Amino acid sequence: MKLRLEHALLESGVESDVLLEIEGGWIKTVRVDGQFRSWMGDVSVDNDRIPRSTGETSSPGLTLPGFANCHSHAFHRALRGRTQAERGSFWTWREQMYAVAAELTPDTYFELARDTYAEMRATGITAVGEFHYLHHQPDGTPYDDPNEMGKALLAAADEAGIRLRLLDTCYLTSGFSRPPEGVQVRYSDGDAHAWAERVAAFDDPRVGAAIHSVRAVPREQLKVVVEAAKGLPLHVHLSEQVAENQACLAATGLTPTQLLAEAGALGPLTTAVHATHLTDEDIRLLGESATNVCFCPTTERDLADGIGPARRLHDAGATLTLGSDSHAVIDMFEEMRAVEMHERLASQQRGHWSALELLAAATYDGHRSLGFEDAGRIEVGQRADLTTVRLDSVRTRYTGASAESVVFAATAADVCPTTRPGASSGTRLEEP
Ligand SMILES: [Zn+2]
Repeated sequence: MKLRLEHALLESGVESDVLLEIEGGWIKTVRVDGQFRSWMGDVSVDNDRIPRSTGETSSPGLTLPGFANCHSHAFHRALRGRTQAERGSFWTWREQMYAVAAELTPDTYFELARDTYAEMRATGITAVGEFHYLHHQPDGTPYDDPNEMGKALLAAADEAGIRLRLLDTCYLTSGFSRPPEGVQVRYSDGDAHAWAERVAAFDDPRVGAAIHSVRAVPREQLKVVVEAAKGLPLHVHLSEQVAENQACLAATGLTPTQLLAEAGALGPLTTAVHATHLTDEDIRLLGESATNVCFCPTTERDLADGIGPARRLHDAGATLTLGSDSHAVIDMFEEMRAVEMHERLASQQRGHWSALELLAAATYDGHRSLGFEDAGRIEVGQRADLTTVRLDSVRTRYTGASAESVVFAATAADVCPTTRPGASSGTRLEEP
């Protein structure tokens, strides 16, 4: 099919009048015709205003690569709004989350995930990293198929039409030298070797790996997970709470980042999620190893985690990606601008991140951290995962077709409910 875009974010920046040829869900040609330009956003959604040749479909607005949501716990979506009643802390929120986790069956897990992923699709997200640790039955006994819960997520992603990286998570202990408690028996495989065996039995190219956190996998077993995850994306929650750092230091004499470095867990295939409370040495370790860091600003502020050193991590060599974690909000526009806004509040200075840098975090860098290097750019050979932002909504009108408008003015509600070329290729991993 031929798709004529009014405006598109290409590697050269925002261009006008861009013609794409798409075959089987892949971009075959990109041509900038530049026949028309409008820097003002006051355009109508009347397709006829875009000059096009016979056989072309047109798309008004500013088209971006589809977003990558790199950190999701789909079932947390059930908590939205409900955990805001009365006062509470991170730990009372966690109690409510555990109560939901205790009830879920493969069927309800599927339904929640399908609806959460459908919400993501409607907001322009085309790939998601699901941090999955709800493996077993409520008493800890494996299901007949020990990967039944993970397969429910894969089926949910298929139905919603989103590309999934299932980050199968090793979660063995409640804390340093503390066995799993309560609902956590659903999470634990017993030891890291048993976790690796279960994951190996999965036999699906969408499966990746995760370490829940340094408190959930004993120090001597971290290497087993790292070894089993070789060549796959490996994600890990890191230093979200000060209490986690203190417990880690008391138990091992190391910070969580140092402990991961000792286990060989850092590197370009690894993503440290949150990375909020870090020492200078931690930042150096994450940067020098070219580890990705996934910030989840709307969740981090909801849980009062703190503001992580995003820019310092970037400057040290780490790559920023974004996620919506607890799904208190699913809106990648809000995640992008929150990175900059939080740093402004913390530093009393503006201008930490450019709009293009934040868009890279939400698109190409995110897809790459999930192992999808063929998504996140509108260029030849990439997947035709496209997200078009309306420039005529009450929010975006008069803002202009620019990266800044998208990052600092638009919201998830401005994403056009367009068809997605080659949607059927979205959840599979075919070759171009
Ligand atoms: Zn998380």
